Amino acid sequence: MSLPPELKKIIEVTRSHNRWRRFECVNLIASENVMSPLAEAAYFTDMMHRYAEGKPGRRYYQGNIYTDEIELLVMELMSKLLKVTYVEPRAISGTVANAVVFRVLANPGDKALIAPVQAGAHVSHTKFGTLGALGIEHIELPFDLDRWNVDVDKAVKLIEEVKPKFVTLGASVYLFPHPTKEIAEAAHAVGAKVVHDVAHVLGLIAGGKWPNPIHEGADVATSSTHKTFPGPQGGVIFTNSEEMYKQVSRYVFPWFVSNHHLHRLPATAVTAVEMMYFGEQYADQIVRNSKAFAEALAAEGFKVLAEHLGYTKSHTIVVDVRPQGGGAKIAKLLEDANIIVNKNLLPWDPPDAVRDPSGIRLGTQEMTRFGMKEEDFKIVARFIREVAIDGRDPQDVKKKVIEFRRNFLEVKYGFDIPRDLENSLIKIPMLL
Ligand SMILES: *Cc1c(COP(=O)(O)O)cnc(C)c1O
Repeated sequence: MSLPPELKKIIEVTRSHNRWRRFECVNLIASENVMSPLAEAAYFTDMMHRYAEGKPGRRYYQGNIYTDEIELLVMELMSKLLKVTYVEPRAISGTVANAVVFRVLANPGDKALIAPVQAGAHVSHTKFGTLGALGIEHIELPFDLDRWNVDVDKAVKLIEEVKPKFVTLGASVYLFPHPTKEIAEAAHAVGAKVVHDVAHVLGLIAGGKWPNPIHEGADVATSSTHKTFPGPQGGVIFTNSEEMYKQVSRYVFPWFVSNHHLHRLPATAVTAVEMMYFGEQYADQIVRNSKAFAEALAAEGFKVLAEHLGYTKSHTIVVDVRPQGGGAKIAKLLEDANIIVNKNLLPWDPPDAVRDPSGIRLGTQEMTRFGMKEEDFKIVARFIREVAIDGRDPQDVKKKVIEFRRNFLEVKYGFDIPRDLENSLIKIPMLL
């Protein structure tokens, strides 16, 4: 039977997406990445159909002989990679990881201190998101715009005054490491815990280019597994505290997950191994590329933030595009030219400016993974100038972007699928 039109449509739309986002765009969304061919193959397995409630060895369902083994491997490999004692891999996303930890540390009505929203705290840290849904009160830490960071002196005073259940650090616009050590000292003095959300920088931590907050005094860290850490979409929680680990792993199921999306596990394990082999080189190139990209954008005439601090120490750059018409306009024009970015609040924007904020956020991690180096980001900066400053037709620039992107189609810093595994039990995705 030939395919009914509905199916043809589904295939066509999926193929269009794959072609566009995977092969024809310069993707600068700071929270995204791609897996290696081997990790993608390991993602597309029968495990996507199975259930494994509970912990390895103590499941509520039969049939988990091998999923138990894989889950234990993920825990072991991730602890080795991150140099921590305990890893809980069952949170299905960074937001779910936060939900588990926040709820373990506080009851409804309790107070938490969080990194400032306008300076990039994730929605899940706030009264508008997960924290609010759990009935925990959010109070923002003071921000020092000049240092693009939490204001340590004022934060310490606030911690002493509020005596929260916990303090969160980490953000979605994360240019410089937050002061974990100082905040942890103040928090511990009033009996508060420190949760450090490293969703954006996990790959940099794995590569040794960003401080591991657990080594600096944070009690527990939460993360996504798909941003600078180039694994499948998922979440992870890690700690050196046995008590914290026990509580977290006691409540992740049944409070916040039932099925924990088992097909993430082999792909996460593959990615952890890849980071052991290539992580340092990869993280180093990301940071070099961000610096070069920021400098190139500034040279093209853009107002790149945190210039006096050297722009960034991570994969992320923030640009104030008010002179060019604002974040919403520029993000859309760039999309028309196949350069994908997101509009972003800047520290001085009012919270209700989310639909048309002053800035755009750019991340170098995915294009680094496709092999781009400092010189290549200079070319991207020029494309962005042509669209946003010179007013060139985005359709013209798009043609150049597609051609440029042809040089960067292979994922680096990972492993290919071995020949003898092609067409074996592991299927190759991206079939469309
Ligand atoms: C992306 C992000 C999250 C949420 O992760 P998901 O996996 O998308 O749920 C949490 N915290 C921070 C700081 C983030 O940037």
